[in-house]
Amino acid sequence: MAQTLIRNGFVISMNAGRQAFENGDVLVEDDRIKAVGVIADELIAPDADIVDATDCIVLPGLVNSHVHTSQQLERGLADDVDLLTWLHERTWPFESALTEEDSYLSSLACGLELIHSGVTTFAEAGGQHVDGMGRAVTEIGLRAALCESIMDCGEGLPKGWVRSTDECMERQVAHYEKWHGAENGRIRMQFGLRTIFNCSDELLVRSREMAEERGIGIHMHVAEVLEEVQFAQKTRGAGTVEHMNRIGALSPNLLAVHTVWLTPRDMDLFRLHDVKVSHNPAAAMRVLGFAYVPELLSRGLAVSIGTDGAPSNNRMDMIDEMWLTTLIHKGRTLNPATLPAVTILEMATLHGARCMLWEDEIGSLEPGKKADLVIVHPRSAGTLPVHDPVSAMVYSMHSSDVESSMCDGRWLMRDGKVLTVDEKAVLEEAKSRAAFLRKKAGIELPDRFPTVRVR
Ligand SMILES: [Zn+2]
Repeated sequence: MAQTLIRNGFVISMNAGRQAFENGDVLVEDDRIKAVGVIADELIAPDADIVDATDCIVLPGLVNSHVHTSQQLERGLADDVDLLTWLHERTWPFESALTEEDSYLSSLACGLELIHSGVTTFAEAGGQHVDGMGRAVTEIGLRAALCESIMDCGEGLPKGWVRSTDECMERQVAHYEKWHGAENGRIRMQFGLRTIFNCSDELLVRSREMAEERGIGIHMHVAEVLEEVQFAQKTRGAGTVEHMNRIGALSPNLLAVHTVWLTPRDMDLFRLHDVKVSHNPAAAMRVLGFAYVPELLSRGLAVSIGTDGAPSNNRMDMIDEMWLTTLIHKGRTLNPATLPAVTILEMATLHGARCMLWEDEIGSLEPGKKADLVIVHPRSAGTLPVHDPVSAMVYSMHSSDVESSMCDGRWLMRDGKVLTVDEKAVLEEAKSRAAFLRKKAGIELPDRFPTVRVR
């Protein structure tokens, strides 16, 4: 039995009463939270490790509900291009050039950025090499639901990505059997479906059935761009959500990502089936449009926040993403009270946990839950003063203020230093491998300015 006492911080618990504790404590025992707030002396072991959190904010580890860890090395290769160029000339060639080892390295590099921005749990959006991702998550110590993006139809996709429906299902089950529950339950599997462009009705329905049988989630981009909804209307006779409802593919296990092009009826269908939603504000602003986030929340739905992948956003930074979420919906609704700080923190913690079907163990600091937490230390010119720690977390904070992070009772970062992997070595390797992969994928970037190559 090992105890850690985090003492004298401003503790944002996110418990049912949304209590915060000024000069409060959090007691961790092994991988679980033992007590929060005012802690009786007799609960604290004499040899407990004591961490001083004076002037710090202590909150549940953030949940990033949609991130393509396998796209991390593609950052900056798809800026300022239209969607088709983004897909056909940049992202598909790059992603299909990755080996399992690249995926491992990419996931480590992505994991580092996630840790620095206060994330302890993420939902993988779906790459092609689950074993590479799984190895990286094992080492770096984050909590994750992984998946492979499976596809059984679609035009123009890289060779080897499209498989028969049976083969797709077999792969999903094999990943599930290998990884689900690994690392003290820290790694889970979900079924990954890319989009309706690439999934037959049979695949959608069978995935729902098999996910329900196993009590796991399904991760899918839904109503992402207008062309997708029009494609569904043309080929299936109804928009994406309406069609999925007709064939019985909507369920509480479905985590629908982006969901920008929804009708009011689509949102009602989501409510009817308790579909979960991942909102990715930066990616939405870049190419997709405004998602109806306040409207979805007002229906009682779990709406979480995701960063999407590096070629869609460039910043896998949940602190930035929380700030962006509150701003863009204020702008869209012309109402400064839209999505207040408390709602944003709920989206990044409790809703994230619900979206990953993990709310029994994570999303709040409460006795019995897993010890996933972050300590934020506002001390920079860009952050101080802090009059209101709850709103400061959303409006003022930068990821550089995230000082320490714990997942499953293990420190991932202390005082800004990642403890689980050699950060410098990973980033050096990632840099040189990214240059190699860009060549391998045959991606040429045009010069932005007339550039003289001196040597
Ligand atoms: Zn995505």
